[in-house]
Amino acid sequence: MNNKIEKYAELLVRIGINIQKDQTLVIASPIECAEFARIVTVKAYEAGAREVVMRWLDEKSTKIRYQMASNEIFDEFPIWAKEYFNGYADIDAAFLSISASDPELMKDVDPKKMSRANKASSVALEHYRSRMMSNKNVWCVASIPTDAWAKKVFPGVSTEEAVDQLWDAIFKAVRVDTPDPVQSWKDHQSHLNNKLTFLNETAFKAVRYKNSIGTDVLVELPKNHVWFGGGDEAPQGHVFVANMPTEEVFTMPKHDGVNGKIVSSMPLNYNGNLIENFSFTFKDGLVVDFDAEKGREVLEELLATDEGAKRLGEVALVPFDSPISNQNILFYNTLFDENASCHFALGKAYPICVKGGDEMNKDELKAAGANDSLTHVDFMVGTEDLEIIGIKEDDTEVPIFLNGNFA
Ligand code: ZN
Ligand code: ZN
Repeated sequence: MNNKIEKYAELLVRIGINIQKDQTLVIASPIECAEFARIVTVKAYEAGAREVVMRWLDEKSTKIRYQMASNEIFDEFPIWAKEYFNGYADIDAAFLSISASDPELMKDVDPKKMSRANKASSVALEHYRSRMMSNKNVWCVASIPTDAWAKKVFPGVSTEEAVDQLWDAIFKAVRVDTPDPVQSWKDHQSHLNNKLTFLNETAFKAVRYKNSIGTDVLVELPKNHVWFGGGDEAPQGHVFVANMPTEEVFTMPKHDGVNGKIVSSMPLNYNGNLIENFSFTFKDGLVVDFDAEKGREVLEELLATDEGAKRLGEVALVPFDSPISNQNILFYNTLFDENASCHFALGKAYPICVKGGDEMNKDELKAAGANDSLTHVDFMVGTEDLEIIGIKEDDTEVPIFLNGNFA
Protein backbone atom coordinates (compact mmCIF):
# COMPACT_ATOMS: atom_id res chain seq x y z
CA MET A 1 0.00 0.00 0.00
CA ASN A 2 2.65 2.58 1.05
CA ASN A 3 4.64 1.76 -2.03
CA LYS A 4 1.60 2.43 -4.22
CA ILE A 5 0.87 5.70 -2.42
CA GLU A 6 4.43 6.85 -3.16
CA LYS A 7 4.08 5.81 -6.81
CA TYR A 8 0.79 7.67 -7.05
CA ALA A 9 2.28 10.86 -5.58
CA GLU A 10 5.15 10.57 -8.03
CA LEU A 11 2.72 10.06 -10.94
CA LEU A 12 0.80 13.24 -10.03
CA VAL A 13 4.00 15.28 -9.93
CA ARG A 14 5.69 13.81 -13.03
CA ILE A 15 2.72 13.12 -15.37
CA GLY A 16 -0.23 15.07 -13.89
CA ILE A 17 1.54 18.39 -13.22
CA ASN A 18 4.76 17.50 -15.03
CA ILE A 19 6.53 19.99 -12.79
CA GLN A 20 9.32 21.98 -14.40
CA LYS A 21 12.56 22.99 -12.74
CA ASP A 22 12.13 26.10 -10.53
CA GLN A 23 8.34 26.18 -10.96
CA THR A 24 6.11 27.03 -7.99
CA LEU A 25 3.46 24.45 -7.11
CA VAL A 26 0.27 25.43 -5.23
CA ILE A 27 -1.48 22.45 -3.62
CA ALA A 28 -5.08 22.68 -2.39
CA SER A 29 -5.68 19.79 0.00
CA PRO A 30 -8.38 18.81 2.52
CA ILE A 31 -6.87 18.64 6.02
CA GLU A 32 -7.81 14.94 6.13
CA CYS A 33 -5.38 14.36 3.24
CA ALA A 34 -2.44 16.17 4.89
CA GLU A 35 -0.18 13.14 5.07
CA PHE A 36 -0.55 12.46 1.35
CA ALA A 37 -0.15 16.16 0.51
CA ARG A 38 3.19 16.15 2.35
CA ILE A 39 4.39 13.13 0.31
CA VAL A 40 3.45 15.01 -2.88
CA THR A 41 5.32 18.05 -1.56
CA VAL A 42 8.53 16.04 -1.12
CA LYS A 43 8.17 14.49 -4.60
CA ALA A 44 7.65 17.94 -6.10
CA TYR A 45 10.80 19.35 -4.47
CA GLU A 46 12.72 16.25 -5.61
CA ALA A 47 11.51 16.92 -9.15
CA GLY A 48 12.85 20.49 -9.03
CA ALA A 49 10.00 22.65 -7.68
CA ARG A 50 11.09 26.10 -6.48
CA GLU A 51 8.47 26.29 -3.74
CA VAL A 52 5.43 24.24 -2.77
CA VAL A 53 2.63 26.38 -1.32
CA MET A 54 -0.07 24.65 0.71
CA ARG A 55 -3.71 25.75 0.80
CA TRP A 56 -5.48 23.68 3.45
CA LEU A 57 -9.21 23.14 3.10
CA ASP A 58 -11.75 22.03 5.70
CA GLU A 59 -15.23 21.46 4.36
CA LYS A 60 -16.69 21.02 7.85
CA SER A 61 -15.65 24.59 8.69
CA THR A 62 -17.07 25.67 5.36
CA LYS A 63 -20.37 24.10 6.34
CA ILE A 64 -20.43 25.90 9.72
CA ARG A 65 -19.72 29.15 7.88
CA TYR A 66 -22.70 28.53 5.57
CA GLN A 67 -24.91 27.92 8.58
CA MET A 68 -23.72 30.66 10.93
CA ALA A 69 -21.93 33.51 9.15
CA SER A 70 -23.65 36.82 8.35
CA ASN A 71 -25.89 36.53 5.36
CA GLU A 72 -24.19 39.24 3.26
CA ILE A 73 -20.76 37.56 3.22
CA PHE A 74 -21.97 35.05 0.60
CA ASP A 75 -21.90 37.83 -1.98
CA GLU A 76 -18.38 38.88 -1.03
CA PHE A 77 -14.97 37.57 -1.99
CA PRO A 78 -11.90 38.89 -0.16
CA ILE A 79 -9.36 40.91 -2.12
CA TRP A 80 -6.43 39.09 -0.53
CA ALA A 81 -7.76 35.75 -1.77
CA LYS A 82 -8.18 37.13 -5.29
CA GLU A 83 -4.59 38.40 -5.14
CA TYR A 84 -3.45 34.98 -3.92
CA PHE A 85 -4.85 33.12 -6.96
CA ASN A 86 -3.98 35.78 -9.53
CA GLY A 87 -0.52 36.30 -8.08
CA TYR A 88 0.46 32.66 -8.31
CA ALA A 89 -1.23 32.29 -11.72
CA ASP A 90 0.77 35.24 -13.06
CA ILE A 91 4.12 33.75 -12.01
CA ASP A 92 3.20 30.58 -13.95
CA ALA A 93 2.70 28.42 -10.88
CA ALA A 94 1.20 24.96 -11.29
CA PHE A 95 -1.97 24.13 -9.34
CA LEU A 96 -2.73 20.70 -7.89
CA SER A 97 -6.13 20.14 -6.24
CA ILE A 98 -6.95 17.14 -4.15
CA SER A 99 -10.68 16.59 -4.50
CA ALA A 100 -12.16 14.34 -1.82
CA SER A 101 -15.40 15.84 -0.59
CA ASP A 102 -18.07 14.12 1.45
CA PRO A 103 -20.81 13.76 -1.19
CA GLU A 104 -23.64 14.60 1.21
CA LEU A 105 -22.09 16.96 3.74
CA MET A 106 -23.86 20.07 2.43
CA LYS A 107 -27.31 18.55 2.01
CA ASP A 108 -28.93 20.76 4.68
CA VAL A 109 -27.15 23.92 3.61
CA ASP A 110 -29.31 26.51 1.81
CA PRO A 111 -28.49 26.00 -1.91
CA LYS A 112 -29.08 29.71 -2.54
CA LYS A 113 -26.20 30.63 -0.21
CA MET A 114 -23.94 28.15 -1.98
CA SER A 115 -24.76 29.43 -5.42
CA ARG A 116 -24.26 33.05 -4.29
CA ALA A 117 -20.85 32.14 -2.85
CA ASN A 118 -19.90 30.30 -6.03
CA LYS A 119 -20.94 33.24 -8.12
CA ALA A 120 -18.99 35.73 -5.97
CA SER A 121 -15.84 33.60 -6.24
CA SER A 122 -16.29 32.97 -9.99
CA VAL A 123 -16.64 36.70 -10.65
CA ALA A 124 -13.62 37.57 -8.48
CA LEU A 125 -11.48 34.81 -9.92
CA GLU A 126 -12.33 35.25 -13.58
CA HIS A 127 -8.73 36.05 -14.55
CA TYR A 128 -7.42 32.98 -12.72
CA ARG A 129 -10.17 30.70 -14.06
CA SER A 130 -9.78 31.77 -17.65
CA ARG A 131 -6.02 31.15 -17.39
CA MET A 132 -6.75 27.62 -16.13
CA MET A 133 -9.39 26.89 -18.75
CA SER A 134 -7.13 27.94 -21.59
CA ASN A 135 -4.17 26.03 -20.12
CA LYS A 136 -2.04 29.13 -19.59
CA ASN A 137 -1.23 27.54 -16.22
CA VAL A 138 -0.59 23.89 -15.57
CA TRP A 139 -3.20 22.29 -13.30
CA CYS A 140 -4.25 18.86 -12.13
CA VAL A 141 -7.18 17.52 -10.12
CA ALA A 142 -6.75 14.17 -8.36
CA SER A 143 -8.32 12.37 -5.40
CA ILE A 144 -7.47 10.26 -2.39
CA PRO A 145 -9.91 8.61 0.04
CA THR A 146 -11.31 10.32 3.11
CA ASP A 147 -13.38 8.44 5.71
CA ALA A 148 -16.68 10.13 4.83
CA TRP A 149 -16.26 9.73 1.08
CA ALA A 150 -15.15 6.07 1.37
CA LYS A 151 -18.15 5.23 3.57
CA LYS A 152 -20.52 6.71 0.99
CA VAL A 153 -18.96 4.60 -1.79
CA PHE A 154 -18.70 1.39 0.30
CA PRO A 155 -21.45 1.65 2.93
CA GLY A 156 -21.56 -2.03 3.92
CA VAL A 157 -18.10 -2.33 5.54
CA SER A 158 -16.04 -0.75 8.35
CA THR A 159 -14.52 2.68 7.75
CA GLU A 160 -11.03 1.21 7.59
CA GLU A 161 -12.09 -1.40 5.06
CA ALA A 162 -13.97 1.21 3.01
CA VAL A 163 -10.87 3.44 2.85
CA ASP A 164 -8.72 0.47 1.73
CA GLN A 165 -11.24 -0.46 -0.95
CA LEU A 166 -11.41 3.11 -2.21
CA TRP A 167 -7.60 3.31 -2.38
CA ASP A 168 -7.63 0.12 -4.47
CA ALA A 169 -10.31 1.48 -6.78
CA ILE A 170 -8.34 4.72 -7.26
CA PHE A 171 -5.08 2.85 -7.90
CA LYS A 172 -6.81 0.80 -10.63
CA ALA A 173 -8.42 3.90 -12.13
CA VAL A 174 -5.10 5.76 -12.34
CA ARG A 175 -3.14 2.66 -13.46
CA VAL A 176 -0.91 2.67 -10.36
CA ASP A 177 -1.61 -1.09 -10.10
CA THR A 178 0.43 -1.69 -13.28
CA PRO A 179 4.17 -2.54 -13.09
CA ASP A 180 5.21 0.78 -14.67
CA PRO A 181 2.49 3.43 -14.15
CA VAL A 182 4.38 6.18 -16.03
CA GLN A 183 4.71 3.91 -19.11
CA SER A 184 1.05 2.80 -18.79
CA TRP A 185 0.03 6.45 -18.95
CA LYS A 186 2.11 7.03 -22.05
CA ASP A 187 0.44 4.01 -23.76
CA HIS A 188 -2.99 5.25 -22.67
CA GLN A 189 -2.26 8.72 -24.06
CA SER A 190 -1.23 7.33 -27.45
CA HIS A 191 -4.44 5.25 -27.57
CA LEU A 192 -6.53 8.36 -26.95
CA ASN A 193 -4.49 10.20 -29.59
CA ASN A 194 -5.73 7.75 -32.23
CA LYS A 195 -9.34 8.65 -31.38
CA LEU A 196 -8.50 12.36 -31.52
CA THR A 197 -6.89 12.03 -34.93
CA PHE A 198 -10.02 10.32 -36.30
CA LEU A 199 -12.41 12.88 -34.81
CA ASN A 200 -10.34 15.92 -35.79
CA GLU A 201 -9.76 14.69 -39.35
CA THR A 202 -13.43 13.82 -39.91
CA ALA A 203 -14.61 17.18 -38.48
CA PHE A 204 -18.27 16.24 -37.92
CA LYS A 205 -20.77 19.09 -38.04
CA ALA A 206 -23.05 17.41 -35.48
CA VAL A 207 -23.48 14.33 -33.28
CA ARG A 208 -26.76 12.59 -32.48
CA TYR A 209 -27.19 10.72 -29.15
CA LYS A 210 -29.82 8.04 -28.47
CA ASN A 211 -30.38 5.47 -25.74
CA SER A 212 -33.14 3.55 -23.97
CA ILE A 213 -33.39 5.82 -20.90
CA GLY A 214 -34.72 8.67 -23.03
CA THR A 215 -31.76 10.64 -24.34
CA ASP A 216 -32.47 11.77 -27.90
CA VAL A 217 -30.56 14.88 -28.83
CA LEU A 218 -28.80 16.50 -31.76
CA VAL A 219 -25.68 18.45 -30.78
CA GLU A 220 -24.11 20.69 -33.41
CA LEU A 221 -20.36 21.30 -33.28
CA PRO A 222 -18.82 24.65 -34.27
CA LYS A 223 -16.76 24.96 -37.44
CA ASN A 224 -13.08 24.56 -36.52
CA HIS A 225 -13.84 22.75 -33.25
CA VAL A 226 -10.95 20.72 -31.88
CA TRP A 227 -11.14 17.45 -29.91
CA PHE A 228 -8.75 17.06 -26.97
CA GLY A 229 -7.91 14.31 -24.54
CA GLY A 230 -5.26 12.39 -22.65
CA GLY A 231 -3.17 15.44 -21.94
CA ASP A 232 -2.99 19.19 -22.27
CA GLU A 233 -0.20 21.38 -23.53
CA ALA A 234 1.30 24.09 -21.35
CA PRO A 235 2.39 27.36 -23.04
CA GLN A 236 6.01 26.24 -22.63
CA GLY A 237 5.12 23.19 -24.73
CA HIS A 238 5.29 20.36 -22.23
CA VAL A 239 2.34 18.02 -21.71
CA PHE A 240 0.40 17.79 -18.43
CA VAL A 241 -2.77 15.91 -17.47
CA ALA A 242 -5.44 18.16 -15.95
CA ASN A 243 -7.53 15.29 -14.60
CA MET A 244 -6.10 12.11 -13.11
CA PRO A 245 -7.69 9.78 -14.10
CA THR A 246 -8.77 10.83 -17.56
CA GLU A 247 -10.47 8.61 -20.12
CA GLU A 248 -12.33 11.24 -22.11
CA VAL A 249 -11.95 12.91 -25.47
CA PHE A 250 -13.87 16.19 -25.52
CA THR A 251 -14.75 19.25 -27.54
CA MET A 252 -17.23 22.13 -27.40
CA PRO A 253 -20.81 22.11 -28.72
CA LYS A 254 -22.27 25.08 -30.58
CA HIS A 255 -23.86 27.19 -27.82
CA ASP A 256 -27.11 27.63 -29.79
CA GLY A 257 -27.06 24.27 -31.58
CA VAL A 258 -28.45 21.73 -29.08
CA ASN A 259 -31.97 20.35 -29.65
CA GLY A 260 -33.73 17.47 -27.90
CA LYS A 261 -33.72 15.68 -24.56
CA ILE A 262 -30.79 14.55 -22.39
CA VAL A 263 -31.36 12.15 -19.49
CA SER A 264 -28.71 11.69 -16.77
CA SER A 265 -27.33 8.18 -16.23
CA MET A 266 -25.66 8.79 -12.82
CA PRO A 267 -26.22 10.99 -9.77
CA LEU A 268 -24.33 14.28 -9.77
CA ASN A 269 -22.43 15.43 -6.68
CA TYR A 270 -22.67 19.21 -6.93
CA ASN A 271 -21.09 21.16 -4.05
CA GLY A 272 -21.82 18.47 -1.48
CA ASN A 273 -25.37 17.84 -2.73
CA LEU A 274 -26.62 14.89 -4.76
CA ILE A 275 -28.84 15.51 -7.77
CA GLU A 276 -30.45 12.29 -9.03
CA ASN A 277 -32.43 11.07 -12.05
CA PHE A 278 -32.55 14.38 -13.83
CA SER A 279 -33.16 15.44 -17.42
CA PHE A 280 -33.05 18.55 -19.62
CA THR A 281 -34.94 19.55 -22.75
CA PHE A 282 -33.01 21.88 -25.07
CA LYS A 283 -34.23 24.20 -27.78
CA ASP A 284 -31.65 26.07 -29.88
CA GLY A 285 -29.06 25.41 -27.18
CA LEU A 286 -31.12 26.64 -24.23
CA VAL A 287 -32.59 24.48 -21.44
CA VAL A 288 -36.34 25.09 -21.78
CA ASP A 289 -37.45 22.37 -19.36
CA PHE A 290 -35.80 20.22 -16.68
CA ASP A 291 -36.64 17.78 -13.93
CA ALA A 292 -34.92 15.87 -11.10
CA GLU A 293 -36.21 13.21 -8.72
CA LYS A 294 -33.78 14.37 -6.01
CA GLY A 295 -32.01 17.74 -5.60
CA ARG A 296 -34.32 19.63 -7.97
CA GLU A 297 -33.85 22.85 -6.00
CA VAL A 298 -30.04 22.57 -6.21
CA LEU A 299 -30.26 21.97 -9.96
CA GLU A 300 -32.54 24.98 -10.32
CA GLU A 301 -29.95 27.17 -8.54
CA LEU A 302 -27.20 25.84 -10.80
CA LEU A 303 -29.22 26.67 -13.94
CA ALA A 304 -30.01 30.13 -12.57
CA THR A 305 -26.29 31.06 -12.25
CA ASP A 306 -26.42 32.94 -15.56
CA GLU A 307 -27.63 32.51 -19.15
CA GLY A 308 -24.63 30.32 -20.03
CA ALA A 309 -25.41 27.88 -17.21
CA LYS A 310 -28.51 26.88 -19.21
CA ARG A 311 -26.40 25.93 -22.23
CA LEU A 312 -23.84 23.21 -22.91
CA GLY A 313 -20.10 23.89 -22.86
CA GLU A 314 -18.61 20.41 -23.28
CA VAL A 315 -19.24 17.19 -25.21
CA ALA A 316 -17.13 14.29 -23.92
CA LEU A 317 -16.83 10.71 -25.13
CA VAL A 318 -15.83 7.96 -22.70
CA PRO A 319 -16.13 4.28 -23.58
CA PHE A 320 -18.38 2.20 -21.32
CA ASP A 321 -15.47 -0.23 -21.23
CA SER A 322 -12.63 1.48 -19.24
CA PRO A 323 -10.56 0.80 -16.08
CA ILE A 324 -12.97 3.00 -14.13
CA SER A 325 -16.33 1.89 -15.46
CA ASN A 326 -15.29 -1.79 -15.47
CA GLN A 327 -15.05 -1.58 -11.69
CA ASN A 328 -18.77 -0.83 -11.61
CA ILE A 329 -18.44 1.57 -8.70
CA LEU A 330 -20.44 4.74 -8.31
CA PHE A 331 -17.81 7.13 -6.89
CA TYR A 332 -20.09 10.12 -6.13
CA ASN A 333 -17.12 12.21 -7.29
CA THR A 334 -17.28 13.84 -10.72
CA LEU A 335 -13.58 13.29 -11.39
CA PHE A 336 -14.15 9.52 -11.43
CA ASP A 337 -17.76 9.28 -12.55
CA GLU A 338 -17.22 11.58 -15.55
CA ASN A 339 -14.36 9.34 -16.65
CA ALA A 340 -16.60 6.28 -16.48
CA SER A 341 -19.27 7.72 -18.73
CA CYS A 342 -19.98 9.89 -21.73
CA HIS A 343 -20.90 13.29 -20.40
CA PHE A 344 -21.81 16.86 -21.18
CA ALA A 345 -21.13 19.98 -19.14
CA LEU A 346 -23.43 22.89 -18.50
CA GLY A 347 -21.63 26.23 -18.63
CA LYS A 348 -18.36 27.58 -19.93
CA ALA A 349 -16.66 25.87 -22.87
CA TYR A 350 -12.90 25.34 -22.93
CA PRO A 351 -11.63 28.05 -25.32
CA ILE A 352 -8.92 25.68 -26.61
CA CYS A 353 -11.70 23.52 -28.15
CA VAL A 354 -11.97 25.85 -31.14
CA LYS A 355 -8.96 26.68 -33.35
CA GLY A 356 -7.19 29.79 -32.03
CA GLY A 357 -9.67 30.06 -29.14
CA ASP A 358 -7.07 30.62 -26.43
CA GLU A 359 -6.22 33.98 -28.06
CA MET A 360 -9.85 35.09 -28.68
CA ASN A 361 -11.76 37.61 -26.58
CA LYS A 362 -15.29 36.94 -25.28
CA ASP A 363 -17.07 38.26 -28.39
CA GLU A 364 -14.82 36.33 -30.75
CA LEU A 365 -15.36 33.14 -28.78
CA LYS A 366 -19.12 33.60 -28.85
CA ALA A 367 -19.04 34.21 -32.61
CA ALA A 368 -16.99 31.01 -32.97
CA GLY A 369 -19.78 29.08 -31.21
CA ALA A 370 -18.38 28.79 -27.67
CA ASN A 371 -20.61 29.05 -24.61
CA ASP A 372 -19.59 31.34 -21.75
CA SER A 373 -20.67 31.14 -18.11
CA LEU A 374 -19.39 31.57 -14.57
CA THR A 375 -19.89 27.84 -14.09
CA HIS A 376 -18.83 24.55 -15.67
CA VAL A 377 -20.48 21.39 -14.33
CA ASP A 378 -20.16 17.94 -15.90
CA PHE A 379 -23.04 15.47 -15.81
CA MET A 380 -23.11 11.88 -17.00
CA VAL A 381 -25.21 10.43 -19.80
CA GLY A 382 -23.40 7.22 -20.89
CA THR A 383 -25.22 3.89 -20.84
CA GLU A 384 -24.51 0.40 -22.11
CA ASP A 385 -26.77 0.99 -25.12
CA LEU A 386 -25.75 4.55 -25.99
CA GLU A 387 -25.53 5.18 -29.71
CA ILE A 388 -23.75 8.25 -31.07
CA ILE A 389 -23.88 9.02 -34.78
CA GLY A 390 -21.56 11.58 -36.32
CA ILE A 391 -22.95 13.71 -39.16
CA LYS A 392 -20.44 14.94 -41.73
CA GLU A 393 -20.54 18.23 -43.64
CA ASP A 394 -22.13 16.42 -46.65
CA ASP A 395 -24.81 14.87 -44.35
CA THR A 396 -23.39 11.32 -44.48
CA GLU A 397 -23.65 9.54 -41.14
CA VAL A 398 -20.86 7.61 -39.39
CA PRO A 399 -21.36 5.62 -36.18
CA ILE A 400 -18.99 6.89 -33.45
CA PHE A 401 -20.39 4.94 -30.52
CA LEU A 402 -22.34 1.67 -30.66
CA ASN A 403 -23.51 -0.13 -27.52
CA GLY A 404 -21.67 2.31 -25.28
CA ASN A 405 -18.22 1.92 -26.88
CA PHE A 406 -16.27 3.41 -29.78
CA ALA A 407 -17.58 1.86 -33.00
ZN1 ZN B 1 -15.16 16.22 -19.22
ZN1 ZN C 1 -15.92 19.27 -17.83
